[in-house]
Amino acid sequence: MRVSEGDVTVEAPDPRDASSEGAGDAVFFNPEMELNRDVTVAVLRAFAERTDGGAANLGGSGLARNGDALGADADERTFSYLDATSATGVRAARAAKVGYDVTAADVDPDAVELARENLALNDLPGEAVEADANVLMHQERFDVVDLDPFGTPMPFADAAVAGTRKLLCVTATDTAPLCGAHFDSGVRKYDTVPRNTDFHREMGLRVLIGAMARVAARRDVAVEPICSHATRHYARTYLEVTHRATAADKALQWLGFVYHCEDCLYREHEYGRIAHPPDDCPNCGSARCSAAGPIWLGPVADSEFVDAAAAEVRPNMGEWQRASELLETLSGELDTPSHYDQHRLCKQWGAPANKLETFLDDLRDAGFSASRAHYGGTCFKTDADVSEIREAAEPPAASERE
Ligand SMILES: [Zn+2]
Repeated sequence: MRVSEGDVTVEAPDPRDASSEGAGDAVFFNPEMELNRDVTVAVLRAFAERTDGGAANLGGSGLARNGDALGADADERTFSYLDATSATGVRAARAAKVGYDVTAADVDPDAVELARENLALNDLPGEAVEADANVLMHQERFDVVDLDPFGTPMPFADAAVAGTRKLLCVTATDTAPLCGAHFDSGVRKYDTVPRNTDFHREMGLRVLIGAMARVAARRDVAVEPICSHATRHYARTYLEVTHRATAADKALQWLGFVYHCEDCLYREHEYGRIAHPPDDCPNCGSARCSAAGPIWLGPVADSEFVDAAAAEVRPNMGEWQRASELLETLSGELDTPSHYDQHRLCKQWGAPANKLETFLDDLRDAGFSASRAHYGGTCFKTDADVSEIREAAEPPAASERE
């Protein structure tokens, strides 16, 4: 079937045919990842704008904005981009359309052929190569590497760090191991202790970034997340990389632990490589306190960069509305290492949930910082602890209203 996404049209196997033809045979195409790819295009545009004087790297801003990469001046340096596990090549095609010099790699010759055809179908330059991503990324360096494999990206992580000059984009779709729901698998894949908390999406994202930071540090490379999001069935992060040992040391200082009470939802965090979890919950005294980590406790996004990416979301993107909302929320999100779910708290307190904006205003009126969080419509962040939140913002019981 032909699929149009953003400025490109690609040939892709119909995902509905996968089961009848035998799953695993057809080249994988996931239409649900369109939001992910729309955000990627916006990030790639914003990143090129920001880095090394920007627009010239995309062959002139006018051309890039029209999506016409063919007009690029040969003398101007173009950023190279590797789609490491490219399948249909839709991601590579979309990156090529905004001016990147793309390589689409896959181990499956059918996928390589399809990616080649899809670049040609859109009159886009770039190459499709049959290659094991781990081998290729050890042989060659790219300005931007995009890791979007099926499941965990960790088997590619070390080579990806070696093969990335500037920006490493990583998707993980194995949300159950990431957030601790499949505990043993999470421990194996991410070399950490993940916990299935009530902020599980954020836990997953921070497990992923933490694991990438540690893999990068082994090569004296620092990662800095400039944009990240955890959406229903995946976590995605954009890591700006610096090849310098002292920078890697600094990045590791963002690692640490989160302690979480399963009874009252109290949580606290601790930076460092050694955990000192409380025996009992400091808030309610419960012994059901879990420790997770090491995970990334630092910012997951740079709000200035996220604003720049939001400005690059275009109405011709299929998911432009969700992409815009996501980036807007992300930009305003506080940097605390965990979020709360307002409905979960209200249920806990036996209080009716009120409008989230009212709830957040109550927190702000009490002197705390508070923001929405992109992890869900009822999620928020604050620097208040769970008892302070209750005191400041617990909605009145229905009988007490008016
Ligand atoms: Zn507690």
